[in-house]
Amino acid sequence: MKEEYVCIGCGVHIQTEHPNEIGYAPNSALKKEEIICQRCFRLKHYNEVQDVSLTDDDFLKILNGLGNKDALIVKVVDIFDFNGSWLPGLHRFVGNNKVLLVGNKVDLLPKSVNHKKLMNWMKQQAKELGLKPEEVFLVSAAKGQQMKEIATEIDRYRKGKDVYIVGCTNVGKSTFVNRIIKEVTGEGDIITTSHFPGTTLDMIEIPLEDGKALIDTPGIINHHQMAHYIDKRDLKIITPKKEIKPKVYQLNDGQTLYFGGLSRFDFIHGDRTSFICHFSNEIQIHRTKLEKADELYEKHVGEMLTPPRKDELDEFPELIRHEFTIKEDKTDIVYSGLGWITVPTAGCKIAAYVPKGVNVTLRKSLI
Ligand code: GDP
Repeated sequence: MKEEYVCIGCGVHIQTEHPNEIGYAPNSALKKEEIICQRCFRLKHYNEVQDVSLTDDDFLKILNGLGNKDALIVKVVDIFDFNGSWLPGLHRFVGNNKVLLVGNKVDLLPKSVNHKKLMNWMKQQAKELGLKPEEVFLVSAAKGQQMKEIATEIDRYRKGKDVYIVGCTNVGKSTFVNRIIKEVTGEGDIITTSHFPGTTLDMIEIPLEDGKALIDTPGIINHHQMAHYIDKRDLKIITPKKEIKPKVYQLNDGQTLYFGGLSRFDFIHGDRTSFICHFSNEIQIHRTKLEKADELYEKHVGEMLTPPRKDELDEFPELIRHEFTIKEDKTDIVYSGLGWITVPTAGCKIAAYVPKGVNVTLRKSLI
């Protein structure tokens, strides 16, 4: 019988026949002690990602399997992209299994953000979206914040069962799983993590002491995530890497802000107001007059207003306008996958623009 090999990076079954398909490795790679698929190899050595082909159908199959299991489900979301990183159908598939909801990347929040308020908002959003998690957690997988605690809670809630970790691409699921492994077994990195969406393939089983397992499921690509609309190089710009520094803009009505060329904020009507912008420190913000804003965009998108880059403008979706009248003091306008703007006082009329497919929502401010 032919021997089966598994990639030490992503866990995919290795094949040597189809270079463009998942799990390909050249024959020479099989002679090595640690076998790694070409995709992980490129990622590791060149920081470069090959396109993934885990289809929505395949992911549905995985989700479908969850309902038949007796397990604990840990769902990881990105707190900067709550809506974009939500797995819409999950609640239909979990069956009677308990769910813990984990918001990752808490290290990026400025000190002014109240964690309790954020957790309450997550609970409420989850409920609206049909999921009733047992508990909500805020962690930083990258920095190790609250990871001991979540590892303990997972162990407590699993009651001797398997654990499935689910989440869409780029929420930091691999980083999270790697940390949990460290907490549980003390071992180092063995799963691929990267900047780019779609790098975790196939299920990876990590054995637990009692014969059960922690199962890392592949991340689905949520097509309405901001991350999919921009060049991979620009993902580094829009994804905050350090604690974000809120920037305050005092605006009169009739003024507009551009966040690179990815999104826009119009202050249509209201008294002079200080808007607090929470975006990656690397995104350039441009202020202009509302009446000149369209023209500015047409002239400068891809140059001054970037990302997107000039050479990707053909594929970049148009910006869609969403108008709101702010009804409560201290309201956040949330640009999914990008950040949010806190509006301190009620009564303003504003418009938020995001690429078609990306979500804009309002919430009670987290400050
Ligand atoms: P996956 O696709 O969900 O498996 O995500 P990865 O683990 O590959 O992480 C995606 C990106 O998010 C990488 O650039 C990570 O460095 C980053 N990341 C993951 N966890 C954290 C975190 O706790 N804080 C911050 N700031 N970044 C994180």
